[in-house]
Amino acid sequence: MEIACQPERAIADLRALAELTGGPGGARRLCWTDEWENARGLLREALAELPVEVEIDEAGNLWARLAGARPETVVIGSHIDSVPNGGWLDGALGVMGALETLRTLAAAGTPPCTVALVDWADEEGARFGRSLFGSSAACGTLDPDSVRELRDANGVRLPDALAAHGVDLDRAHEATARLRDVRAYLELHIEQGPVLEGLGLPVGTVLGTVGVERNRVIFRGQAAHAGSTPMTHRRDSFLAAARFALAVRDAAVRHGGMTTTGGAASQPGVVTAIAGETALLLDQRHLDAGVLAALLAESQALAEEAATAEGCTVEWEPIWRIEPIPFDADLIAAARRACQSVAGSDRTLPSGPLHDAAEMARHVPTVMIFSSSTNGISHAKEEDTPIEHLELAIRAYAQTVGAAIDRVAAG
Ligand SMILES: [Zn+2]
Repeated sequence: MEIACQPERAIADLRALAELTGGPGGARRLCWTDEWENARGLLREALAELPVEVEIDEAGNLWARLAGARPETVVIGSHIDSVPNGGWLDGALGVMGALETLRTLAAAGTPPCTVALVDWADEEGARFGRSLFGSSAACGTLDPDSVRELRDANGVRLPDALAAHGVDLDRAHEATARLRDVRAYLELHIEQGPVLEGLGLPVGTVLGTVGVERNRVIFRGQAAHAGSTPMTHRRDSFLAAARFALAVRDAAVRHGGMTTTGGAASQPGVVTAIAGETALLLDQRHLDAGVLAALLAESQALAEEAATAEGCTVEWEPIWRIEPIPFDADLIAAARRACQSVAGSDRTLPSGPLHDAAEMARHVPTVMIFSSSTNGISHAKEEDTPIEHLELAIRAYAQTVGAAIDRVAAG
């Protein structure tokens, strides 16, 4: 179905939100705070004018349900919370884009299936370090014990912060009931990276979120005196790590993935000693699970080679991993058609950052649309996107939601 939305109304909503909860220092919508509730207040005011049922679920997610001819539901939305000193678009674009889509649908009468807007609670995890709180609770992947002891910078425990906003951590999983009739999830977001801008494109369709392998790679040689040990007699763990860092960068380029050596620490770490041990922090990403596994295996072989070349040994310690989460092929096709018709390009790209859509994609057909990000900057007050790109992205999003409604209504 055609959803002839008016993107300028969503832009006005975004500006009003920035005025209320932003400013020269950036957005201040840290989850589980009064400013976050203020932001939601603005959203609730707009929703109060629509024939929708607004509720907060057991995990603190806000739902606005526009009943359709059938109970099967298309969910649209994103997150209104922000990092401290964040940008005006991260999450907010998806919420206001969904609001405009819902507003347009409501004005046209009863949709053929139910459409629900969701504002996920605590996507950012900026206060307690656990991202995707609300969506993972609704999707049944949140283990309450894994977050129970988390504290913010002021020592406030996560369960207490939640309780202050009416959420009982041990009942958060009851939010899973909200997904019973859900058949599709669509999220609009800024790219938060430089790819679309670099291609001169306003919008793109997201193929999924990349898989991540994080490891500590520890090279061990022999600490020895910097003055008395000839260059020919050294087992220098730092040099092995340096060889490896360069080789693994090239491997990532060959595989079309990403590898970051985010940290390096040598022992004993003094200017007069050869580094006996050097530990690297390695983050590797790819959209394809097979290619990510191949990149990891090749990296392990490269580490052995680098270690041997410097007379060292190497050991890998896993830190964290997540598999790639691909989006739905039919919804990707619908989003590409919408982007093509609205903006003249059907470019696709993976998402490096995780999103609530990654949680939803494990359960229901899901897709995301990205708008460009100026200079690729996000999680900063400089975050921005040309207004015409935002408008094109909102129109492409609404059109894709229309296609999803058609599919769900057809059973
Ligand atoms: Zn976001």
